[in-house]
Amino acid sequence: MYIYFDNAATTKTSKEALSKIIEMSTENFGNPSSSHKFGFLAEKEITNSRKVISDIIGAREDEIYFTSGATEANNLAIIGVAEANKRSGNHIITEKSEHPSVIESCKFLEENGFKITYLENSNNGQIDLDVLENEISSDTILVSLMHVNNETGVIFDIEKIGKIIKRKNKNTLFHVDGVQSFCKFDVDVNKCNIDLFTISGHKLHSPKGVGALYIRKNTKISKRQFGGAQEKKIRSGTENITGITAMAESVKMLYKNRKANMEHVKMLKERLITIQDEIEDTVINGENTSAYILNISFIGVKGEVLMHALEEKNIFVSTGSACHKGAGSQILINYNLDEAISAGGLRISFDYLNTLEEVDTLKKALLEIVPTLRRFKKR
Ligand code: PMP
Repeated sequence: MYIYFDNAATTKTSKEALSKIIEMSTENFGNPSSSHKFGFLAEKEITNSRKVISDIIGAREDEIYFTSGATEANNLAIIGVAEANKRSGNHIITEKSEHPSVIESCKFLEENGFKITYLENSNNGQIDLDVLENEISSDTILVSLMHVNNETGVIFDIEKIGKIIKRKNKNTLFHVDGVQSFCKFDVDVNKCNIDLFTISGHKLHSPKGVGALYIRKNTKISKRQFGGAQEKKIRSGTENITGITAMAESVKMLYKNRKANMEHVKMLKERLITIQDEIEDTVINGENTSAYILNISFIGVKGEVLMHALEEKNIFVSTGSACHKGAGSQILINYNLDEAISAGGLRISFDYLNTLEEVDTLKKALLEIVPTLRRFKKR
């Protein structure tokens, strides 16, 4: 038996998704581009899947483009918009703690003549919205910000940000990486003034290698992939019909249960947070965070050491993503936290499948391991 608390990294494929994969692999396996019945039926399934996603974010069905995941969607959104709008301006705004698929796309553009502003995070992970507003000029073609940070769960007020952007420059496009928020938080692309929105299937109990990008109608965007003109020429390549339809099945289930799921993970997180009263020098990182993610540091204990000690007990958590010169999480470093805190960050990410018993087992393990590791360090 194992206990899995790394749901921000990936999730278990749902029963709904699995049965759709079988159906689409064995019965309805046509190529959507074929002009016979098999092609027509496969295409119909894709259209239905598009509608499932567009309905949730208040978009139109023809504004959803399927990709191989969020990395591709973020690359397409940022580089595609930059390329297509370079005559209108060469300035893009993002923040330091975005996912590498955003940061690296921006770095690529920087090497190719674009000016990128990387907004700073304060200690609580938030960005200064006055600074954002001041940075937007007539040259700013895009603002790319995530809804929920994948390492700390910090939530950005995308509705407020959308208003600020469009008030300052109505032509500036707004891209939101919604990977850690879709089907968890309600997002309406019109209310939030979002022009592009990224999602990833494998964070949503679907298989890996599928995702989607919402692109508001009439948004100027250049394709990054050349070929058979699928996805209205924006994303060529035979559609991943098993992945796309499986993702739609999981999304339906998650969206239907989103309120109950949120209540459930809130309860799990609150229960785990009480560990602060039992282990001294425990710090919770980030403020205004998603109930699905807890980033916690036990000062004096390296996150990585703790992660492996928990692994010994078949409990799986993470330290967040890429480490920085052995000093801990880059995101926590961006938050300008003391090294003792940034090196200690442990990410525990919850799911509707987790139970209170699992949280209690994790708590018990931490109560045992943390003091031992601290004693060991002092020697
Ligand atoms: N953005 C965020 C916020 C993520 O958490 C991830 C996955 N870690 C991605 C983008 C990339 O997603 P994918 O694995 O689908 O490429």
